[in-house]
Amino acid sequence: MTSPTYQVTDPSTGDVVETFDHATDAEIESALTSAHSAYTAWKDVPIAERAVVVKRVAALFAERADELAAIATTEMGKPASEGVEEAEFCQAIFDYFADEGPTLAADQEIKGITGGRAVVQKLPVGPLLGVMPWNFPFYQIARFAAPNLMLGNTIILKHAESVPRSALAVQKIMDDAGLPKGAYVNMFATFDQVETIIADPRVAGVSLTGSERAGAVVAALAGKNLKKCVLELGGSDPMVVLDTEDLDAVADAAWDYRMYNTGQACNSNKRMIVMDDLFDDFVGKLTDKALALDAFSPLSSRKAAETLHEQVQDAVSKGATLHAGGVLSDGPDAHYTPAVLTGITKDMRAYSEELFGPVAVVYSVGSDDEALELANDTTYGLGGSVFAVDEKRARSLAERLEVGMANVNTTAGEGAEIPFGGVKRSGFGRELGPLGMDEFVNKRMFYIA
Ligand code: NAP
Repeated sequence: MTSPTYQVTDPSTGDVVETFDHATDAEIESALTSAHSAYTAWKDVPIAERAVVVKRVAALFAERADELAAIATTEMGKPASEGVEEAEFCQAIFDYFADEGPTLAADQEIKGITGGRAVVQKLPVGPLLGVMPWNFPFYQIARFAAPNLMLGNTIILKHAESVPRSALAVQKIMDDAGLPKGAYVNMFATFDQVETIIADPRVAGVSLTGSERAGAVVAALAGKNLKKCVLELGGSDPMVVLDTEDLDAVADAAWDYRMYNTGQACNSNKRMIVMDDLFDDFVGKLTDKALALDAFSPLSSRKAAETLHEQVQDAVSKGATLHAGGVLSDGPDAHYTPAVLTGITKDMRAYSEELFGPVAVVYSVGSDDEALELANDTTYGLGGSVFAVDEKRARSLAERLEVGMANVNTTAGEGAEIPFGGVKRSGFGRELGPLGMDEFVNKRMFYIA
């Protein structure tokens, strides 16, 4: 199996900045021992005391926001302002679980019992493995770590090979906040070592955010070892526009959301599905925005930019129209001009594959039913949105979307308290909000006669 190379490569230049060694097998064993030993103590620390440490984690994310943003810019090209927003979102997530965790994890009384009393307790399950992607190198960890540290679980973290400095910066935050040694352990693990960790009897489960390919590998390992797993995978979310009184506002929302993180968000509005009477104006507005850009960030890596370019070129070669952008830099850097693409048909890769970069794909439809059919004609099922003047009309369509997150008249409802996750090949399980504290839990029934 190929092994990751933990290496910082600046996508704006293609220069290799720093390389890190893999963990040795002895280091993996030591991490497992340490995570397990920390678990035996951490689970018995009163939840209010765990919350004090988790609050300090939150504060450190805010304090170090500029530093974290600079790391993300160097490692994966994220614009600095978006890096700061990401760090502040991490603060909100750790704060949310520190504040709400004690209530969310409290015993639930079962009503209607005769002859006794029964409650469901929420108990931790043990050390967990987190396998995380590069696109939001801090937020993805926060979604997984915050609820689980509050529950009393401990964490071994394998981050993406391209963001080792981000991985170490998070480890430092956890250490500086005062988490006990072993409660959060970053490991520059190989894929074989990921397999070893999942198979280890001390490890209770694994959570992966990333591609379907990696999700299938990790889910198979979890299944083989009878471990629970949570999978937060790719998406090709539809954004349906039925009608509007303010096309400028809808086009602004569509463009800004699609271009956020240079188009590399799992729940980006990757397929815009617009009624045919709005289509030309809508595409025109997006095209104007693309043509007006005089500066844009690189994608996360040269390889990512090349893959996106191949997908767009495949569409164009089969008859799609590229209205703007779509130019791959001819240097070793990862710049790709934000694009607007229409005329996608089923034989094109862009119809069925996730386009993980700044490409606004717009489809035209003639009816609500046609919009719904196209929206659901995907193997993915992460999120989706529907815009219409009549909220009832939008709701009626949104309620039939095969997704884990449906939105009406907004691209996405997001926040620390709002659950996140998908269905179909976008994975299973939920992060954030109350449901985020329900995954790696022994919901123990406790009966007293
Ligand atoms: P990726 O290649 O799947 O990598 C994700 C993580 O999995 C990395 O740590 C990677 O390690 C690891 N990995 C890959 N193959 C593995 C294997 N065989 N065994 C063990 N670990 C393995 O995904 P990505 O390209 O970094 O991220 C982009 C994808 O993530 C997109 O599809 C995006 O939509 C999805 N995503 C989903 C969500 C969500 O919440 N649903 C959020 C963000 C992103 P290496 O880096 O070392 O290869």
